Amino acid sequence: MSERETVRCGTCHLNQFMPRNRHCRRCHSFFELPAPVPDITDVVRSNIIAGRKKRGWIQQELAQSMSVCKSYISKVEKGKVNPSLLSVERFAHAFGIPAYVLLIPTNKENTQ
Ligand SMILES: [Zn+2]
Repeated sequence: MSERETVRCGTCHLNQFMPRNRHCRRCHSFFELPAPVPDITDVVRSNIIAGRKKRGWIQQELAQSMSVCKSYISKVEKGKVNPSLLSVERFAHAFGIPAYVLLIPTNKENTQ
């Protein structure tokens, strides 16, 4: 409804409308922009690449374990194709992990 966003200064705690120049009216601290939400397609793609490399598989090996052609794996990894939910499930099955793991933005669990 309101077109003006209210913010609270982290330095002097003054509540105020977001200033145009993003600096606090009282103490002139800069309001950081919120961190961008990671793109889910990039998350899935990087997790698929990480999952394959972690297992030391070439694209052909992953393709064979999923009964798909290698060019499909290549397109997914290059971001030319977005895997469907069912495909995400198949990637997860090939890796022997639950499908939701491929949707988690952090790589820690998947690359180590
Ligand atoms: Zn302030």
